[in-house]
Amino acid sequence: MPEAATIVKNLLRWYLTEARELPWRQNRDPYGIWVSEIMLQQTQVKTVIPYWERWMKRLPDVDRLARARETTVIKLWEGLGYYSRARNLQRAAQMIQNEHKGCFPSDYEALLALPGVGPYTAGAVSSIAFGQPRPIVDGNVIRVLTRVDGIRESTKLSQTIRELWSRSESLVRFASELWRPGRNVCGDFNQSLMELGATVCLPRQPLCCDCPLRRCCRARAEGMIEVIPNLGARKKMIARMFIAVVVRRTGRYLVRQRSAGEINGGLWEFPNVELTSQDPSGAVWLDSGMGLDPSKLSALGEVKHSITNNRITLKVYCSDVSPDYCVMEEAGEWLEASELERYAFTAAHRKIVRRAINENGR
Ligand code: SF4
Repeated sequence: MPEAATIVKNLLRWYLTEARELPWRQNRDPYGIWVSEIMLQQTQVKTVIPYWERWMKRLPDVDRLARARETTVIKLWEGLGYYSRARNLQRAAQMIQNEHKGCFPSDYEALLALPGVGPYTAGAVSSIAFGQPRPIVDGNVIRVLTRVDGIRESTKLSQTIRELWSRSESLVRFASELWRPGRNVCGDFNQSLMELGATVCLPRQPLCCDCPLRRCCRARAEGMIEVIPNLGARKKMIARMFIAVVVRRTGRYLVRQRSAGEINGGLWEFPNVELTSQDPSGAVWLDSGMGLDPSKLSALGEVKHSITNNRITLKVYCSDVSPDYCVMEEAGEWLEASELERYAFTAAHRKIVRRAINENGR
């Protein structure tokens, strides 16, 4: 296993010159860093930047987030997925207002007590914003550390993850001993680990020639880069088919809000149903559930998307109905095209909104 000194010093030196300029790296505001870390979970930096900038313009501090309407918060998050993260951000902001007098907590345990904050986020915020020697382990860090240390055991094993947390902790503690005035070595070191994983130590075809750890990397020396990290068996993807229908009545569109307990709860969508062996084309649902004649629909194509291991295909249709059509009157709402823009839709149904409006404008 390479020495901590070799890893830490090489990474810190590399980070000084190679760190990307990211908007949340302009200062050490814990609020902005926290928002960026939550947004970056399962989402790439280039996607997050415009979301983070819009969010910070509208909700620049804990107080504004705590007092914002939930619809505003969800709309700002629209397209990032995993909407519970946005709701947790707001609940955490309200907790900071109530329990910490609006002052962002620097204490690690207090950070961990916030909704939606786990050991990774608490470690990232306490090291980057407050300079504390707290470890981080996420997908990027797992890849870098398993390769550098030549760890072949499955990263699905809790023992492997425990060892990586322990290794990360010993590295950041070593970094803290290199403290120099004006430099946040703990924050820089943790960010250098994440940065190396995101830009150099890539899952496929890592850029080893540009890597500051190439001389000490065990996976490279042993020709094991292709098989480390050992991610274990992948979950099988499940193909699921849905039918969605854009119902238009006197220029308004029928939409419904997903209920709170569901995936994407609180977001809006067009009426849709999963196709089953009992109703393989959706004709039964269209007829008895929606009161529509399947032969009179026009096709709007297909929309594909994935949620965890579900690969979903939505077959989309459109129907203009007469002014007296009133199916789903209680469960749904009729919105004008301009209102469709203001409501927060799931990513798949946002694509349908665009198609429906374009199709109507033709
Ligand atoms: S040498 Fe290659 S595999 Fe090893 S840490 Fe660097 S980029 Fe990753």
